[in-house]
This record gives sequence, structure tokens and C-alpha cells, in this order.
Amino acid sequence: MTEKHVPFDRDLVERLSEQYPTPFHIYDEAGIRATARAMKAAFDWVPGGFKNYFAVKALPNPSVMAILTEEGMGFDCSSLAELALAEYLKTPGDDIMFTSNDTPVEEFARAVDLGAIVNLDDYRHIDFLHDHLGLPVRVCMRYNPGSLKGGNVIIGKPEEAKYGFTREQIVAGYRRAQELGAREFGLHAMVASNELNPDYFVETGKILFELAVEVLEKTGLRVSFINLGGGVGIPYRPDQDAVDLRRVSEGLRELYDTVLKPAGLDPVRIFMENGRVVTGPHGYLVSRVRHIKETYKHYVGLDASMANLMRPGVYGAYHHISVLGKENEPATETCDVTGSLCENNDKFAIDRQLPRMEPGDLVVIHDTGAHGHSMGFNYNGKLRSAELLLRVDGSVRLIRRAETLHDYFATLDLA
Ligand SMILES: *Cc1c(COP(=O)(O)O)cnc(C)c1O
Repeated sequence: MTEKHVPFDRDLVERLSEQYPTPFHIYDEAGIRATARAMKAAFDWVPGGFKNYFAVKALPNPSVMAILTEEGMGFDCSSLAELALAEYLKTPGDDIMFTSNDTPVEEFARAVDLGAIVNLDDYRHIDFLHDHLGLPVRVCMRYNPGSLKGGNVIIGKPEEAKYGFTREQIVAGYRRAQELGAREFGLHAMVASNELNPDYFVETGKILFELAVEVLEKTGLRVSFINLGGGVGIPYRPDQDAVDLRRVSEGLRELYDTVLKPAGLDPVRIFMENGRVVTGPHGYLVSRVRHIKETYKHYVGLDASMANLMRPGVYGAYHHISVLGKENEPATETCDVTGSLCENNDKFAIDRQLPRMEPGDLVVIHDTGAHGHSMGFNYNGKLRSAELLLRVDGSVRLIRRAETLHDYFATLDLA
């Protein structure tokens, strides 16, 4: 069970909405910091050191990224813009993981310039990099375990996923990279998304640790870090439990001691690149009820739409909803909570039991701090909302303004 708590009240939001009209996302700095610290503490045993490279795509806002830098995280980037955000924050190269796929040469070039850890998605990219830019001294390779690993709903079955090297390619890849001058090696896999079972990550660790040993035996090369990827899930539903990172950590520690150490692979640094679990639970999409509609169903129409939060429409994902000021009222209405897109999947909830609502009520959609605002789009001429930061001292800061019609027209050539 996970209590769905809101770290602000209706009065604060009413006041905020005078300055920043709804809808907006608001992020809770105290919660983000607490989560970052708990993650770091869970892995404090790792001999070479543990680091989470926050997946920038989850919440690409430099104000939040700066908080994560203070908490000791690096950044996992996969595009030019994400690299530019890390550069803007003066992130050292060691703290940037460039995990991309189908990558243009300019993006590899930028990553190499920044001294980032280049995480290769394909065997051919080794020679591609060598031919175009020179292979960096440090490279990481992304492993796709194929049928060794079961699937997961969001990311799909590994065999059908476009990412990563096969096992044979990994071994050959380290040999080839060494021939072309690489001297430091990392191993990576990312095979789950929004996974709530802690054992899943331990199993990924086992696969990667054993592969690192195989690489050592077959090539004589030792990896200096192993990146377990992101994908730690969050309890979007109140009846779900958060992943116990201590349990993940304990499982990995045992494997470290029984698989890596006896093979002489110690110290090895352990990395992850979680986005969702770091900021997801600490973001809230605040929206106002615009209309109530009764037809074959009972509809609550919001001033937010799928452009602000795509997950329910795209994945049928559950996001908890609270009505501010009505937290203690009985959930007597069965409603569809909708946005205003001309798409019938523009619904935040279907057949959800909620308290009776009126136009003007303030609604909070939970767990929008990752893959929320960042997945937004402009379909139907919808403009992306503002992002606010609820700071540790209780003050609120605008960290991204809402788009305007001017932004919408800015890319048109009207001459
Ligand atoms: C999306 C992604 C992540 C982050 O996933 P979360 O679910 O936000 O933890 C990490 N690494 C890679 C390669 C990704 O594509």
C-alpha cells in the first residue's frame, strides 16, 4: 500500500493559480532530495562506488537537474538537447552517460567533446565512431539479453527490442574496441521499464555480472563499471508498493561477492540510470474542472489534456487523482476524467470513483514528475504547461513558463 499524499493544500494552489493559471506541473524538492539520498544510501557498500545517472528524458528541467547534481547524481542523455542540458549545468564528462540508439554522428561528436561515457548500442558503432571521430579511450556497450530475460509491458520482450548487442557481439565488441585503442570498458543493459519487482533488477545484475566474467575469461579484458539501466517502477496505484531498493542492493551485494569477486573482478563500480523512481512520485499535475457532462457516462472535463500527460492515453496507465479540499468526501461518482483533445483516448481516468465535483474544483493528478511534461506535444494546438518547483522552504518558483501562442507560431514561416 502507498499513501497518495499531496504536499500542498487547496489554499496554496488557489493563490498560485492567480499567478500561474492551471494546468501546471509542480515538483516537490524535499521529496526528490529524500529519494535521491535513500538511493545513494542503499548502495553505499559498493566498493568502487555507486552512481545513478538520472535519465534526463524523464524530467528535462535544469532547475530539477541542478538539485540532482547536488545529491550526487550524473545524467543519462540520449540526444543533443539532453547533452546540452548537462553541459549547461557544467556536468563533468564522468557524470554524463550517453545512452543513445540510431545515433547521428553529430551527437556522438558532442558526447565525445564533453568527455561523456559513450554507451554503444550496436557492434557497428565501434567502427563508425573510429572512422568518424576516433574511438574514445573509454567505451560502454549495451547488452540485449534476448531470450535470457522475460519481457515487461512497457519496454517489451528483449528479443523484440531494438536495443543493444547480442552476447556474441559483446565479446567481439570488446576485442574490436581494444584493437582500436579503447582501454576502459563498461557493460550496460536496460531491460525493464516501470518494473515493481525488486528481484527483476537482481536478475539483471546476475546476467550482467556473469557476462562480465565471461568477457574477462574470453578476452582478458576487465570491465570497470556495470550499468544496470533504469526502469525501477513506482506505485502509481495506492495498492502497489514501492520497490525496496535495499532489497535490490542486498541481492546485488550477494552476487558481487559470489560472482565478481571470485573471478577477480573487484572493485567494479555499479551504476544505474533511473529517471522515473527519482522524480516521478514528486510531481503533480494541477488542473481545474471546466465542465461536468452527463450523457451515457458521467464526464469531468479538465483544463489539462493528454498534451500535459500522455501516459493514461498511450499506455492506459493509472494515475491517482485527488480533488483538493474534498479529500475526506466519499467517492460516490463513477466518472471519466477527460481533457479537451479531439481524441477519445484523451482521458486521465475511466470509470474512476471520485467525490462529486463542480466546475472550478481543483484536481491533482499524482506521479507526474517523470515522463509527464516531457512527453508533451502540441497536437490540436494544445500548449505545454508551466512547471513549478515547491522548494524545501515552502516557497514556489516558476521553473518553466507555459507556452504561448507566440511559441506555437514561432516555427512558421509566414513571409
Ligand atoms: C528511459 C530510459 C531510462 C530511464 O527509465 P526510467 O523508467 O525513467 O527509470 C534509462 N536508460 C535508458 C537507456 C532509457 O531508455
